[in-house]
Amino acid sequence: DLVLGLESSCDETAAAILRADGTILAEAVLSQLAEHTPYGGVVPEIAARSHLAHLPALVRRVLDQAGTTPAGLAAVAATAGPGLIGGLIVGATLGKGIAIAQGLPYLAINHLEGHALTPRLPGVHPGGVAPEARGALAFPYLLLLLSGGHCQCVLVEGVGRHRRLGTTLDDAVGEAFDKSAKLLGLPWPGGPHLERLAGAGDAKRFSLPRPLYGREGCDFSFSGLKTAVANIVAKGLDDQGRADLAAGFQAAVSATLANRAAHALAMAPGATALVVSGGVAANQGIRAALAEVAAKAGLPLVAPPIRLCTDNAVMIAWAGIERLRAGLTEPLDHAPRPRWPLAELAAPEPGICR
Ligand code: ATP
Ligand code: MG
Ligand code: FE
Repeated sequence: DLVLGLESSCDETAAAILRADGTILAEAVLSQLAEHTPYGGVVPEIAARSHLAHLPALVRRVLDQAGTTPAGLAAVAATAGPGLIGGLIVGATLGKGIAIAQGLPYLAINHLEGHALTPRLPGVHPGGVAPEARGALAFPYLLLLLSGGHCQCVLVEGVGRHRRLGTTLDDAVGEAFDKSAKLLGLPWPGGPHLERLAGAGDAKRFSLPRPLYGREGCDFSFSGLKTAVANIVAKGLDDQGRADLAAGFQAAVSATLANRAAHALAMAPGATALVVSGGVAANQGIRAALAEVAAKAGLPLVAPPIRLCTDNAVMIAWAGIERLRAGLTEPLDHAPRPRWPLAELAAPEPGICR
């Protein structure tokens, strides 16, 4: 009952093996950060070649760690989109190859659904009870996916059933962090550096816009905030000024996200929890602001451990397990999809699963 998960949609090469009950037997992530840093962003061609060079050995490593062989697997799950097509082809094709060789079911996983189902991994959230996975978070819950490539507010209603309530009108929130950090002269990717710098700053010194704050719905926008940062930087800043601007930026983003999350919760009265995921979920200021929103709504804030918030293969294997239970395997001619909105996922027929 072992499921192999593969992730290669962006700049992390990852593999993991989980038992069907969600126990993590082995996990490995290789970041390509050093390969892309000279270019200040992810270069698709370099990413694809690096996945190709490293993924097979990583699969070998997790098989060894889990004390098994391909013959010991029950299914293979690979990220099939959305993401950079070169990397997706590497992971999906390797996954299919193993599935063909061993006669196993192949699970084509939507990367976003991987993020969306992660909080249901046993042990991530102690409250709520689903009969099939003791301790799992119960549907529906509200997911705030905050990463470098995505900024979405999603009501997770079931496997394959995700309702997007809001999204960004321009930049993703991680992108806003990275661009503002660059303006402040910080290395890429700038999110964690900006948070560190903000710790030494006075958030009240600069008044910055809070885009869409108070506006109906839960869409996001960050380009105005980035422009405001650029304008202040252009006038010249000393070190304290840079720290103050970083603090102001982080406070503006936190306040905006909190406001959007509060609206989203009002749009989803049945939600059992507010979940925050994606690399930006590492930000303590943002977490604190969201914890307050959740508490006001009488809901827990669920934040998976950071290694499960950023790109990883545990979430892909777990989404595979959930889909396998629902009978949602894909044929081996399934093609990776660089664009693949959550709304277009296969879902179980009503009444068939759970
Ligand atoms: P995807 O959207 O496909 O998951 P990604 O690889 O960019 O793409 P993640 O790895 O989840 O996404 O997150 C990376 C982003 O998170 C970067 O933009 C990074 O700056 C940001 N980030 C990481 N730590 C922090 C932090 N402490 N504060 C703010 N932003 C952060
Ligand atoms: Mg990444
Ligand atoms: Fe991701």
